[in-house]
Amino acid sequence: MNLKVSEAIKKAENFLKTKSIPKPRLDCEVLMESLLGFNQAELYANLERYLSSLQFESYSRLIERRGNREPTQYIIQSREFWSLDFRVDKSVLIPRPETEILIERVLVLRLEKHAGVSPLRILDIGTGCGNIAIALAKEIPAAKIIASDISLSALKIAMLNAKLNGVKKRIEFVQGNLLEPFCNDRNLKIPPFNIIVSNPPYIPSEQINELSPEVSKWEPRTALDGGIDGLDFYRKIIAKAGDCLVKEGFLLLEIGEDQAEKIKEIAIFHNAYKEVKVYQDYSGKNRVIEIWKK
Ligand code: GLN
Repeated sequence: MNLKVSEAIKKAENFLKTKSIPKPRLDCEVLMESLLGFNQAELYANLERYLSSLQFESYSRLIERRGNREPTQYIIQSREFWSLDFRVDKSVLIPRPETEILIERVLVLRLEKHAGVSPLRILDIGTGCGNIAIALAKEIPAAKIIASDISLSALKIAMLNAKLNGVKKRIEFVQGNLLEPFCNDRNLKIPPFNIIVSNPPYIPSEQINELSPEVSKWEPRTALDGGIDGLDFYRKIIAKAGDCLVKEGFLLLEIGEDQAEKIKEIAIFHNAYKEVKVYQDYSGKNRVIEIWKK
């Protein structure tokens, strides 16, 4: 016997409860919306409609994946960031809302410190699905943006996202390790950047398995693992970024909430920089460090 949309959702919710999924109802609704091609209002208007048996079967498969702790965003292959839609799969980190603080800081710096600079040269290291580079390309038409990643499969997703968001021509994608493609032994291979941004992997290796299974089992370890103390990538980026920035340029990095002091020390140790500032996210946690080049 065929089920109504509402009945299928209820059944799915009960199943996900047995798997200890947090907020199962929301996931069941989002997966149903994705299956039927509805937005939330359309779903609520169609709760009494009957699903075909094929639709119910497809829905069950989506719910089963969620029961396996696969993040809903990977199942529906989509995530919103900066009010833009991004395609995601398990080769890229799912963008987090906190990362929007990084975008906001770039926009402020551009107005306060680099107004009139054109083109404003921005590098996004470890671009993943391209969320940071693409949001900046949308916001700053006068920017020349380069986005890099060591993972070719991530870059493919980022390029697709740039196309879907209409900024493909505005971003150059480069495969490579951190700043290596741009600067070797202090020799710059390209003109220096005004701003370098990155949300590098920053979870201490041993803590990854303590995170929720959605993260530890599904998100790419290379996008999370920051080495023994979580700071490996800050050390490497900070050591080299000075050589790749213009005079009075900026390095902006997303950080873990308890990492600000240590990263400040790393930055101050390098002669290339003159000032370090830390900004909080909306829950009051330290989230972005801004390092000013001399
Ligand atoms: N730049 C992407 C983001 O901010 C990916 C970051 C990463 O993979 N560590 O979500």
